[in-house]
Amino acid sequence: MKIARIFAHTVDLPLKEGTYNWSGGKSVSIFDSTIVGVETECGLIGYGEVCPLGPFYLPAYAKGVRAGIEELGPHLIGYDPRELGVLNHRMDAAFKGHAYVKSGIDIACWDILGKASNLPVCTLMGGFHGEKVRLYRAISQQSPEQMAESVATYKSEGYTRFQLKVGGDPDTDIARIRATRAMLGDNDRLVADANTGWTQHEAMRVVRAVRDLDVYIEQPCLTYEECLAIRRHTDHPFVMDENVDSLQMLLRAKADLAMDVINLKISKLGGLTKAKQARDLCVSMGIAMTLEDSWGGDITTAAIAHFAHSTPEEFRFTATDFNSYVTVSNASGAPQREQGFMQASREPGLGITPNFDVIGEPVVEVR
Ligand SMILES: [Mg+2]
Repeated sequence: MKIARIFAHTVDLPLKEGTYNWSGGKSVSIFDSTIVGVETECGLIGYGEVCPLGPFYLPAYAKGVRAGIEELGPHLIGYDPRELGVLNHRMDAAFKGHAYVKSGIDIACWDILGKASNLPVCTLMGGFHGEKVRLYRAISQQSPEQMAESVATYKSEGYTRFQLKVGGDPDTDIARIRATRAMLGDNDRLVADANTGWTQHEAMRVVRAVRDLDVYIEQPCLTYEECLAIRRHTDHPFVMDENVDSLQMLLRAKADLAMDVINLKISKLGGLTKAKQARDLCVSMGIAMTLEDSWGGDITTAAIAHFAHSTPEEFRFTATDFNSYVTVSNASGAPQREQGFMQASREPGLGITPNFDVIGEPVVEVR
């Protein structure tokens, strides 16, 4: 089995809430997502999806996915898509860095491996742990009152994990954390995710001001060293995200005892193969995880479901159903949220079929 063609479609994903706002005034209203296809000589096709959170979250941007596939794609023609170790080794040798470009190709090859072996990706990644995967809801940055209302609405839909977008004015953020925590019960979990938005002294003020509350603190500052300083001065459970984008950083952060939970995003790490490496290492080291991606639609949600459902339950802090945030469905067969949980498909591969009416003709093609 050999790769004969790699191609990409684009699809716009507008948000049901209109906009998604986070630290530093960053905001997106329509996501530019890339659907990546890999086709074998025998006509078997696998799909993946890559959707950066705008060009200002991680060093990634939507058009970069397409440009990168044009650059990297020719180096992969003729390789066996089922041999994911060889394929990833080839991708890293031919194209340095740019993990997010490689992510869609890697996911599509896992989809092919599943279809070729007649097994769900979840089974190939280790198997189904438990019945279902618990989800969190990201709460877009607004006034404290609006965010409290939003938390109450999503709680009524079954969510029990909430990730507040803070990282703005520290006094307003303290009010946001207080107002939203007041809406929740003892069994709910609240994460205040500053997405690198606080300076170190601002973060110190916030963690001290909410010391009496049950709240997790996620990626308070821009650099790893600043985050580590905050971590060492607070007893809130602590989550690292943006700074941990490789196995090297994961090992360093573990050695420093820099976090209690880590946020693993598939495209931040370079695809399901590398996300699985990091996930398995976290399980061995006893670190719980949020298992997700930067953004996406149905195909990303399916990939997250297989990644998360194949992770032992005690290490699965949360995952994300991005397809419920957007108005456009780019594939059928993706998981649908039920009372704050989702399940990976039991069909071969990712278990999805792209909606060709929505994704249109390919905009990039490499043969
Ligand atoms: Mg985060």
